[in-house]
Amino acid sequence: MSTLDFEIIRNENPVSAEDRAGILADPGWGQHFTDHMITIRYHKTKGWHDAKLQPYGPITLDPAAQVLHYAQELFEGLKAYRQADGSVVMFRPFANAARMNTSAKRMAMPEIPEEVFVEALELLVSTDRDWVPTTEGHSLYLRPFMFATTRLLGVNQPADEYLFMIIASPSGNYYARGIKPVTVWLSQDYTRAAPGGTGAAKTGGNYAASFAGQAQAVAHGCDQVVWLDAVEHRWVEEVGSMNLMFVYGSGAQPRILTPALTGTLLPGITRDSMLTLAPDLGIQVEEGKINIDEWQHGCESGELTEVFGCGTAAIISPVGAVKGADRAWTIGDGEPGPISMRLREELIGIQFGRRPDPYNWVHKVV
Ligand SMILES: *Cc1c(COP(=O)(O)O)cnc(C)c1O
Repeated sequence: MSTLDFEIIRNENPVSAEDRAGILADPGWGQHFTDHMITIRYHKTKGWHDAKLQPYGPITLDPAAQVLHYAQELFEGLKAYRQADGSVVMFRPFANAARMNTSAKRMAMPEIPEEVFVEALELLVSTDRDWVPTTEGHSLYLRPFMFATTRLLGVNQPADEYLFMIIASPSGNYYARGIKPVTVWLSQDYTRAAPGGTGAAKTGGNYAASFAGQAQAVAHGCDQVVWLDAVEHRWVEEVGSMNLMFVYGSGAQPRILTPALTGTLLPGITRDSMLTLAPDLGIQVEEGKINIDEWQHGCESGELTEVFGCGTAAIISPVGAVKGADRAWTIGDGEPGPISMRLREELIGIQFGRRPDPYNWVHKVV
């Protein structure tokens, strides 16, 4: 099966053009939603069916719906970008489709055909195309997600029924007031993911489990939490909900090290894009391991020059300083470094159509 017939139910009361313009002038992040959404149902015997584009709004769930009790859920995140000629593209939607299916396998949920996933995104984005911001740096954030709807308190089996949905939210420039490096907290009390667990799946439970660590980071005056490995508590894995990149050297021979995908890290599409892009800009890349002592000593010796987090929301988020229970240090001079900014500029350039796209990452919608 590669396509589904979508029933189209137009929103009879869309947000007025005037109100929409007001929202798009300052969309913030994840607070406003477009006029429509996608819903597709799954049943074990029927497969994927009942595909709809319909007005954005609340849904009803049985109080015993499995997701509310056992968190059988997963999600994705990608963006649609306005190009200079007015057209709209999505960035690497097939990579999100593939990752959603990898997450689905881990969460014992049904896989969705990649073509259906991308077709549903295209339908929503083309219908709500007026919601794709025209301001440079702004975009339409797309949030596909899926959860178990079966009425079932039995704990020994995955659900038979699921709802897949996509909603869309205009998003502003993460760094509207200039790029400000974050200060990060080394969490040694909490871990995000353990070997054999769900760290590589984009599932809500990983986030629920991370809030306490994030709150601790904030309590220590930091912006984000650095997740260390669950066994030795010293190997660096991720920062907040971003992958981490360590830049060594500068000038002619820069090199990037990023923690390898060991199963406890989320395989970011921005991470993958950086690993593809950097060598073409003369920056060597390596997937490996780095512990907190190596991180600290690298910064102190000057060998480690920049560190940044990367993910769809912020694209690149420079890390300026690190704090932990027994240590603290700064990275370089604490300001965004040239390699981080160059990579950011290249990737954003491809997304907004200002740079050539030799990798075929941008997917034209309308
Ligand atoms: C989504 C996510 C990322 C970044 O993935 P992108 O595809 O680059 O947006 C990194 N870490 C975690 C924990 C995530 O959930």
